[in-house]
Amino acid sequence: MALKIGGEIEFDGRTSEGLDRKIDAIVGELSKFGFKYLSLNRSISLIEPDLALTDHKIASFFSGGLDSTFTAETNLVNYLVSVRGFDIEYQNLDLWDAAVKNILKFSKKTKTNPLFLSTNIRHISNPILSWGSVYHGTALGAIAMVLPLGIETTLIPSTSALLASKPGYLGTGSHLCDLLSNFGRNTITDKEQSRLEKIDLLGRMGKEYALRSLRVCWENLDGEYQCGRCFKCILTALEFDYSGLPYRSSSLAEIVNFKDVLGLRPSISQCFFLIEDYRVARKLNLNRNLRRSVKLSLLVICARSFVANYPKRWLKQLLSS
Ligand SMILES: [Zn+2]
Repeated sequence: MALKIGGEIEFDGRTSEGLDRKIDAIVGELSKFGFKYLSLNRSISLIEPDLALTDHKIASFFSGGLDSTFTAETNLVNYLVSVRGFDIEYQNLDLWDAAVKNILKFSKKTKTNPLFLSTNIRHISNPILSWGSVYHGTALGAIAMVLPLGIETTLIPSTSALLASKPGYLGTGSHLCDLLSNFGRNTITDKEQSRLEKIDLLGRMGKEYALRSLRVCWENLDGEYQCGRCFKCILTALEFDYSGLPYRSSSLAEIVNFKDVLGLRPSISQCFFLIEDYRVARKLNLNRNLRRSVKLSLLVICARSFVANYPKRWLKQLLSS
């Protein structure tokens, strides 16, 4: 946010030597997200050597969604870090309380320790920057640096292999995570995989309770815990349909068809999720009828975007899928 505004900035507090050394490289990495930054004169009040960590615990960010559930279930994780103010609005205490109940059940089942934090970073920064495509990686990285001392490694769940391969769409990535590893700690992006591969693997691992309790919705239309109608809800229902699993998480539609997908108005980055799942379904030869519906829907979305004169790069991606 400081880089967007420019000018003088003073860090009033301690900063690690490692972070100080890497600031210019972090700025270089952030500029890949299509951002024109202003120059910054920074002054740091106290630079300290990295910490001598005595324990080697592993933490992972956890919202209860598919990506963080997959990371928690497929890695040896000691702590689940859940943050009010990230995918749930800082002021939305009712939704947060409902999510916490779900997270506590999951942590009990997986024998992990829950850590709950809150931040108003999005409340302050969203009017200036895009959370999804610019700064969520640095926000997670900053929190990783202030977790309890026993935590040596913090995992950031991956989002999408396809999206991660497109510079400028995803405000995080393994290189940025590496630069944010400071104070003697490691911050690591979990292996990039498609959402459909994650559901498929969790299903084959027999993680029914984890898949049933997913909380994927972040639009929460009409204030619902999981609305079943927003892009993320429809996308996840689609992924359950592709996978052929006999169950799904609560409130998600039973059958997703051509009409459901056609009714979506996806953004450019959301289109990548539809394309990536379609490609994986084709590779794994899953649900041929559904694939046909999705392909037709993608073509209609493509035609609609052509009429609306949307960016050419989106059309190119759609047509090549
Ligand atoms: Zn929803």
